[in-house]
Amino acid sequence: MIIPGNPGKITDGLYCLGPLENPTYLLDGGKPAMFDAGVSFLGEHYVTELKKILGTRPLHYLFLSHVHFDHCGAAGYLKRHYPDLIICASSISAEIIAKPSAQALIQKLSTVPGMTESQKFRPFSVDRAVGDGDRIDLQENGFLEVLATPGHTRDMTSYYLPQLRTLIPSEAAGVPAGRGYIYAEFLVDYDSYLYSISRLAVLPVERILCAHRFIYDGDDTVGYFDEAIRQTRRFKNRISILLEQNGYDNEAVGRIIKAEEYGQVPEPKLAEPAYDLNLKAKISTIARRQEKKAQKPGS
Ligand SMILES: [Zn+2]
Repeated sequence: MIIPGNPGKITDGLYCLGPLENPTYLLDGGKPAMFDAGVSFLGEHYVTELKKILGTRPLHYLFLSHVHFDHCGAAGYLKRHYPDLIICASSISAEIIAKPSAQALIQKLSTVPGMTESQKFRPFSVDRAVGDGDRIDLQENGFLEVLATPGHTRDMTSYYLPQLRTLIPSEAAGVPAGRGYIYAEFLVDYDSYLYSISRLAVLPVERILCAHRFIYDGDDTVGYFDEAIRQTRRFKNRISILLEQNGYDNEAVGRIIKAEEYGQVPEPKLAEPAYDLNLKAKISTIARRQEKKAQKPGS
């Protein structure tokens, strides 16, 4: 089943906190753990949803996949609300988020007109750096396994719950857009992105909690990763051909791809400025890769 990422119970102890565009997830238990923290203005929404489930019990862990503004935006707000919260992320995320320039960028991207003071991005720091292969005890929910899955970003981290056969890959394995289309998300490195998907593909999974819009459950998880790999290769090949045909004019390629892809994918669409930024990064990634290949024939 493919379920929209609206607030609600997924299975015993596991909840989607919504909203559809930026669903975050909660695993309740002796050490309640939340996965990702959406955009800053959703802080109040997340706390309202958390309270419905946890009551007065505090949130214990927040696991961040990466520090893009739409995945860590409300972390500072949550920390203020739950002062003992342990914010976990990769050491690369910790380094990035410690930089005033990164905080300023998140602040800028998080700003929407009419925002209240409490909806603004609050700087935060990572309390516990986690890395590939780490296992974190979640008491009755077993352990959480950490997987470094770079490609979308350098700091991208996926989380796997073996006891629940549940994977939280964030954007490491693409972003499904409905009607079977999966956005390829190799913003910084195509080859490591594909390798990361292949690592996730071998996990025994019954549930994939996506970073945007959808939850895959049961039979629909079968074949998801193969499809993500197939569509990623196809998208890369399309960019490669267009780069050659258009004399490596990245902007011209961007206009063609946008008409072909963004014009065609079903609603709800990714916000246009975010789409434009991401597409620019993907085309640059492929252009750089082709340049390197041209310098090293046979590689
Ligand atoms: Zn991202």
